[in-house]
Amino acid sequence: MAKKSENGRLAVVFGDQLDPDAALIKGLRKGDNVLMMEVVEESQHVPSHIQRTVMFLSAMRHFAADLRDTHQDKGVEVRYIELDAKGNTGSFATEIERAAKDLKPSSIVCTEPGEWRVLEMIEDVADSLKLELEVLPDEHFMTTREEFAKWADGRKSLTMEYFYREQRKKTGYLMTKKGDPVGGDWNLDKENRETFGKDGPGKVPAPKRFPMDDITKAVVNAVRKKLPDLPGELDDTEDFRWPVTRKEALAALKDFIKNRLEKFGPFEDAMWTGEPVLYHSLISPAINLKLLNPRECCEKALAAYNEGDAPLQSVEGFVRQLIGWREFIRGVYWFEGPGYGKRNSLEAGGKLPEFYWTGEIDMACLRETIGQVLETGHNHHIPRLMVMGNFALLAGVHPRAITDWYLGMFVDGIDWVTTPNTLGMVMHADGRDGLGKGVTGLVGTKPYAASGQYIKRMSNFCTNCRYDPGKKTGDEACPFSVLYWDFLIRHQDDFKDNQRMAMILKNVDRMKPEQRAELTRDGKRLRKELGIE
Ligand code: SF4
Repeated sequence: MAKKSENGRLAVVFGDQLDPDAALIKGLRKGDNVLMMEVVEESQHVPSHIQRTVMFLSAMRHFAADLRDTHQDKGVEVRYIELDAKGNTGSFATEIERAAKDLKPSSIVCTEPGEWRVLEMIEDVADSLKLELEVLPDEHFMTTREEFAKWADGRKSLTMEYFYREQRKKTGYLMTKKGDPVGGDWNLDKENRETFGKDGPGKVPAPKRFPMDDITKAVVNAVRKKLPDLPGELDDTEDFRWPVTRKEALAALKDFIKNRLEKFGPFEDAMWTGEPVLYHSLISPAINLKLLNPRECCEKALAAYNEGDAPLQSVEGFVRQLIGWREFIRGVYWFEGPGYGKRNSLEAGGKLPEFYWTGEIDMACLRETIGQVLETGHNHHIPRLMVMGNFALLAGVHPRAITDWYLGMFVDGIDWVTTPNTLGMVMHADGRDGLGKGVTGLVGTKPYAASGQYIKRMSNFCTNCRYDPGKKTGDEACPFSVLYWDFLIRHQDDFKDNQRMAMILKNVDRMKPEQRAELTRDGKRLRKELGIE
């Protein structure tokens, strides 16, 4: 193990900071020691899907090997602590302390971590070691935390659409020379809701997989040995689903642009049994690890549009996800402060049911979508928002319980991503003072609550289900439909001043008292039977 300088800085690189162009990496100088750590605590503070764990660790080992190649003759050493290394103390804090004791650095430097918990940890450790800490901005993002705060400060509601338009103007992506959006509309979301009809999507191009090299195989062995109880599946094939090097990440991006971008837009919201990917990009994990830069991803999609290989609705939807939604939710996460992840505006207190860990449930939509997550560590935003998340919202699962599940079970799960997306958008739990009368959420001004009819329209799941999405009473009543009405009845008062909920709540008002009582009783029974209460 490297042990050289006693005077250089300790440059801490976390697993989601594998960006060779980061200011930290470019600014490494003679005598610095880079510290990278694989610690058990990071796979256990929330249970982490085995593919997520393998992907992070393998990508880190590849990055460290590249760093050694490029920096060793510049007098920079890389101290890499493997999961099963002798003496590994198992947490970031204790490993930084151990390295500092060993190397006696002049100071600690890192890039902004992706999580309040990790930022607070490194600040505390530097404090206790009496070492100066320099936290560099993460230039991978297009908007700094300060720029977002300037945009958000004083606004009653934080609406992604307005932020997105600013981003379009700033980047010039899909803008005319006159400064208008190409095609005349800023947002083509309405054109992105096509479904497949009863014949389904037909043959969908299989996404690229990546041969496991010796590094990834060694990680798999170490993970199986040190963390045998991780959730999720990892098939014993010779290839891996997720890119772990920049070269592989670029190949994954190319594969998406060539084979799936064209149909990505129209079928962005559609779901189908046995097809977790459809036309989605699958590059979010590589972007979140910083193996890909969002600017290069947008520019490749824009090039496809300019060459006539992809329609505007696909390219606009893709660009919006990257420069709009992704930057927006990261801005919200830091702007709202460390207490954001503890909010619970609707005061939901239910347990996360066991079937989220096994997929064993009669409801075909949940069985299918949770099964996809267990098998692959991924599925797209609609199963996340409108099936698995919608169920947790309607059933009253505690927002922290489901947010932790999303954080650990998705290969692209990092706290700045999953907290606003899950606790905010899915669970409508992120309300705070000052949002205005009747507004109970920050990221969403109304909850994304839907009955089984939405799932029926957007997928074929209901055709294989013992329940009927059109029924809300009786043995065949779809639990989504029962819980939807029960949710509206339970929260009628919370939403009574929300103009966007007025039409929906009128339907609740029209119900006869005995109908409301029956739905309330059935909702309670279901929550009990499904292990939530
Ligand atoms: Fe899901 Fe209800 Fe459809 Fe069954 S009937 S798949 S529970 S929405």
